[in-house]
Amino acid sequence: MSTELCKLKKSLKGDLPTYILLVEQPRFVCLNCGRVANKKKNLCDPKRMKDK
Ligand SMILES: [Zn+2]
Repeated sequence: MSTELCKLKKSLKGDLPTYILLVEQPRFVCLNCGRVANKKKNLCDPKRMKDK
C-alpha cells in the first residue's frame, strides 16, 4: 500500500485502525498539510520532528 496520509481523506473513515497505526508515534510532520506520521513516506512534504 503506497500511502500518503495527505491523500487518504476519503478512505480514512473506512480504515481508521490502519491510520492510527501510521500516526500513533509520529516522527515526521508534513510541511504542506500539517499532518503527522511515523514514516516520511506517508507524507507529501515530510519534515523530521526533533527527537526528545
Ligand atoms: Zn502532506
